[in-house]
Amino acid sequence: ALDQHPSGRHFLQIPGPSPVPDRILRAMSLPTIDHRGPEFAVLGKTVLDGIGRVFQTRHPVAIYPASGTGAWEAALVNVLSPGDAVLMFETGHFASLWHRMALRLGLAPEFLSVKGTDSDTGLPNAWRRGVDAGLIEERLVADREHAIKAVCVVHNETSTGVTSDIAAVRRAIDAARHPALLMVDTISGLASADYRHDEWGVDVAVSGSQKGLMLPPGISFNALSPRALEASKSARLPKAFWAWDEIVEMNRGGYWPYTPNTNLLYGLAESLEMILGQGLEAIFARHQRWAAGVRTAVKAWGLPIQCADPAVYSPVLTGVVTPVGVDADALRKLIHDRFDLSLGTGLGKVRGRMFRIGHLGDCNDLTLVAALAGVEMGFRLAGVATAASGVEAAMAYFAAHPAATPLQS
Ligand code: PLP
Repeated sequence: ALDQHPSGRHFLQIPGPSPVPDRILRAMSLPTIDHRGPEFAVLGKTVLDGIGRVFQTRHPVAIYPASGTGAWEAALVNVLSPGDAVLMFETGHFASLWHRMALRLGLAPEFLSVKGTDSDTGLPNAWRRGVDAGLIEERLVADREHAIKAVCVVHNETSTGVTSDIAAVRRAIDAARHPALLMVDTISGLASADYRHDEWGVDVAVSGSQKGLMLPPGISFNALSPRALEASKSARLPKAFWAWDEIVEMNRGGYWPYTPNTNLLYGLAESLEMILGQGLEAIFARHQRWAAGVRTAVKAWGLPIQCADPAVYSPVLTGVVTPVGVDADALRKLIHDRFDLSLGTGLGKVRGRMFRIGHLGDCNDLTLVAALAGVEMGFRLAGVATAASGVEAAMAYFAAHPAATPLQS
């Protein structure tokens, strides 16, 4: 039979999984070792120390052999009890899924949302904006009995390309003098968008391997705070596999209470070496620069960027709203079939109305320009009219705004 493998590299331009650097793939190909042996403890301690630096925390981080959804569940079941009121905020599809999970776990989540529909695009306003900390403060002030046990928000909403201001949410909780825990999903934010666990006073952060950490999917994280650990001692939702107590205890020696995902941890050690070696500041700056270049292209095309508030544009991905009548998924399929380029689909309430360009992890100026060229060729094939060339606009942007560190665009 003919080998149907496409020629050249696939362009994985979705906002996670992001492309995995060869260096990490090679690190993961080493033989699996005894997870109770002395060599393993060195690996365990190395990754636990390194991941804490990436979260910017001095407190424990739990690593699970699970996708991000597992770490979402872990966050909720460790600190909450049946029927607890939880305040969540609708920023898009992932906030909605976390809300649905809270319902399924027997919590009583309240879903705050910015109302209305945008007159230009017809998209829900809530799916074009970040968390409104003012609404959270108002709601917490009204909760005089302190029935609300946690505030849960998504840092980088992967379905929209909006990055919310987490420090502002912390200030809102403090201004309301409310004891609710702050829980943050930074699954697609960590190691791409600035995230500061301790400084921002986050109690539980949730993240995953397949985005800014440049690993394959399969491990996920809970970064904790002393208050979260304290709350976990009396919380009554059932928890066993996800329970932090045994994990944190075993992690002190570099081990886990069960068989961890050894080869992904090899990959994590390699990823952390790359990330910490380059420095978080440089990584955040390079994502901001890529994002600005891609937005320049979208503006040149004359299409709306899904994020309607420039203050919270995501450095990780850009949502591109297609003209009314152009099915974004048909366009994506055409681009995939013709150019072997994967773009992110519109999820939930924006299905078919937009696509997402990921610009995270192991990218550079040229891979992004090539991805934009794939989109632009797709527009031509599909007969989608554009105002000007986005590729040329992005090339001009990247040329005019050189990266601080050459070859690390
Ligand atoms: N939250 C956010 C912000 C995400 O982007 C994702 C996945 O893309 C998830 C949660 C769910 O994570 P997973 O698909 O790894 O279970």
